[in-house]
Amino acid sequence: MLNFELYNPTQLVFGKGQIEKLSVLAPYGAKILLAYGGGSIFKNGIYEQVKTALSGFEIVEFGGIEANPQFETLMKAVTLIREEKIDFILAVGGGSIIDGVKFMSAAVHFEGNPIDILLKRILFKDISKVVPFGTVLTLPATGSEMNSGSVVTIKTTQEKLDFGGSAMFPKFSICDPTVIVSLPKRQLQNGVVDAYIHVLEQYLTYPHEGYLQDRIAESILQTLIQVGPQVVENPSDYALASNFMWSCTMALNGLIQKGVPSDWATHMIGHELTALYGIDHARTLAIIGPNLYRIMFETKKGKLAQYGKRIFNLSGTEDEIAHEAIKKTVEFFHTMGMQTKLSECTKDYEKAANFIVNRFEKRGWKALGEKQNITLEKLKSIVEMSY
Ligand code: NAP
Ligand code: FE
Repeated sequence: MLNFELYNPTQLVFGKGQIEKLSVLAPYGAKILLAYGGGSIFKNGIYEQVKTALSGFEIVEFGGIEANPQFETLMKAVTLIREEKIDFILAVGGGSIIDGVKFMSAAVHFEGNPIDILLKRILFKDISKVVPFGTVLTLPATGSEMNSGSVVTIKTTQEKLDFGGSAMFPKFSICDPTVIVSLPKRQLQNGVVDAYIHVLEQYLTYPHEGYLQDRIAESILQTLIQVGPQVVENPSDYALASNFMWSCTMALNGLIQKGVPSDWATHMIGHELTALYGIDHARTLAIIGPNLYRIMFETKKGKLAQYGKRIFNLSGTEDEIAHEAIKKTVEFFHTMGMQTKLSECTKDYEKAANFIVNRFEKRGWKALGEKQNITLEKLKSIVEMSY
């Protein structure tokens, strides 16, 4: 196992009716920026619950943060936070809102042009330099409610870039599984698949001697396979909703990543497909992931075979099981309503491989994956295989 440090200061408050605890979780006397997205919180009653819980606080609102949050929009919030002398930010939404709030938190006191946070992938470690924030999660998927990463899109250059650091953990996150009843089917499907791939990014890696991490990762995959197809049909079933929400948090709160190498190339390529074509985040992963496993088969086949045996009860030679495991993964994604070919999502797919290769080359990203053996040539093959 690799050496590791475990640090996760986010207070997770999980369960029915927990939004009312905002009254005690928010710092006493703080002036709060309430940040939200396109308005779903007004339709499903979450806004009312938040406002009631925060009735004793001075609140400034900032809405309209888009899915795949944009730097240009977030900078308007940064100006507002400075003008209004905000002490605390509350994200009410899914991964896009939470990621957007992480950017605001980092940008307010940043010395220099905040665009460099993204272009230079700056790590924020000093909590005295950021504005503290908490979250009310409305969409289980990203794990952003309990991790220190963020992904932001620069609209003008169509770049989707990540940053983070230990100062970027939420102070608290309220996860009430009943919020999922108003989610469209498509977003429920996205949540299951995003979380599933988060696990695979940390599990299908080599060399990997985290036996305990493997078992935890496998239990998350099995739970997502069990509840995923059902929760999409019946999001008001609390047992399904709560297991779905907790699985998504556990998939990317850092725990299964400790002591093992992680890949993240599927995400890096997927971000480009969202930036280029506007395809939902999870859907880009369903397109790229299986083809990355096919092209990187020799590196990943040992782990793919373990995954095939333990998750899908497959038998045969290592190669046979590993190939079959990829097929089973694609079948699961289809069950979850994913399309797994780029050409099913856009007519303009043929430019993708060269575009992404050129972009990564310019950024100096010439070796991806846990073994840094996904070269630009292999990257091109992965994207072309995904057409
Ligand atoms: P999202 O982009 O936050 O939200 C997607 C849509 O769902 C929005 O239109 C939103 O509407 C709607 N929605 C949210 N909650 C709802 C509810 N309870 N009822 C009805 N509609 C609701 O989705 P996401 O998948 O959570 O986040 C995706 C973003 O996170 C991407 O940018 C991705 O790259 C990033 N990501 C981050 C991490 C990380 O670790 N930080 C990991 C993976 C992905 P409204 O806008 O109207 O509210
Ligand atoms: Fe993701």
